[in-house]
Amino acid sequence: MINTEISKNFGVITYNDKLKEYQGLLSDIKQTVSKIEKTIRSNFLDEWLKKGGCTTCQGTGSRVVWDTLDSLSGCYAEYGGCDQCTPERRAISGINYSYTGKYFNIDRSKFEDYLKSQTKMFYPKMYELENEVDHYQRKAYNFTKGINVIVKKGRKVPVGIIGKIFYLKESNYGLNVGFKDIAGNVYWNYSHNLEIIIEDTEQNK
Ligand SMILES: [Zn+2]
Repeated sequence: MINTEISKNFGVITYNDKLKEYQGLLSDIKQTVSKIEKTIRSNFLDEWLKKGGCTTCQGTGSRVVWDTLDSLSGCYAEYGGCDQCTPERRAISGINYSYTGKYFNIDRSKFEDYLKSQTKMFYPKMYELENEVDHYQRKAYNFTKGINVIVKKGRKVPVGIIGKIFYLKESNYGLNVGFKDIAGNVYWNYSHNLEIIIEDTEQNK
């Protein structure tokens, strides 16, 4: 399992800490996937332009001559022949499958499948991280009696105070939480200022 940096100088790890950590990892992997896809698209486009691809019709030979603009998908548009290229030129360049604009009613599934094939090795990890994010999201907001919380925000109770929940009540301002520290001092705060501490057994999960 991942080493979580002992959080915010209070020596405890909360579900929110874990949540942030996994959200970060998930975002990293998504960025990696999107970078790879972007590179493949831009390489394809470079090659296609080198072969003389026509950017007016994207190699389809047809261009929009009229559109009501009533539809975002351009499905009411009328198409005419492209006057910027020739069938010979299009035969060499082929179609610009990297193009994702409007009025492009070409079956791109082969290209999309290729993109997927180049990134699918990241999917299991992405799926796993999504599950972890789900898990910690649920845990982070599961305030129940008997669990330990730490104050992370607000001015009413000093940040860093740790206590066990003994009281919970929904109010107009949020979930009102009563908790007691190890010395028996009682505090009241709203749940949005608190984070649930992960007990040792859970940390070693
Ligand atoms: Zn053209």
